[in-house]
Amino acid sequence: MLHTIFFDLDNTLYSKESGVWEAISERINIFIETILKIDGDKVQEVRTYCRQNYATSLQGLKSLYQINDDEYLEFVHDIDFAKILSDDENLSALLSSLPQRKIIFTNSDSLHANKVLNVLGIRSYFDLIIDVISVRPFVKPHEEAFHKALLIAGLKSSNGCVFVDDIIENIEQASNLGFLSILIGDSKNGHLCIPDIFRLPGLLSSLN
Ligand SMILES: [Mg+2]
Repeated sequence: MLHTIFFDLDNTLYSKESGVWEAISERINIFIETILKIDGDKVQEVRTYCRQNYATSLQGLKSLYQINDDEYLEFVHDIDFAKILSDDENLSALLSSLPQRKIIFTNSDSLHANKVLNVLGIRSYFDLIIDVISVRPFVKPHEEAFHKALLIAGLKSSNGCVFVDDIIENIEQASNLGFLSILIGDSKNGHLCIPDIFRLPGLLSSLN
């Protein structure tokens, strides 16, 4: 029986086309350029290096420049989400149709997650937000981050757990660890895949 669903937040519960990620990405660029004083034309290079070697910009910048997590997270998420996202009744209907326990498992921080969930009008569906602070020093897709997430959720194993995310590396790790993993986006490497979150109930009921 599938009893718990771990949802990624960004580009999973709202569309990649919403513009939220572009807004965050722009704030990351500004952080690297203005706080770390790196030339604008080197910013993308730094970000690519961080992603390839440390999984996320935050992990890379912490190792390379000893930045402070809280300062970074506050800076990059300092966005007026209400201008980009709005109350989504279809998303509320979707979440209320799913009987499973729902948990947010995000590589962002809970302040950001709460802001986004509140703007979307879906905060009340989630009984727990597992954020980048609660699993540190790890992040998805590190195996340890998933173990910590299960522990925080009070679960002994991934049996009966669904994991939904838009990043293939996270899906692959979750699959290796026994989660029923569902990729949001284009099909890749034979993983279960749906084009958007609205197809989740159909997919889950087809598996029963
Ligand atoms: Mg995501």
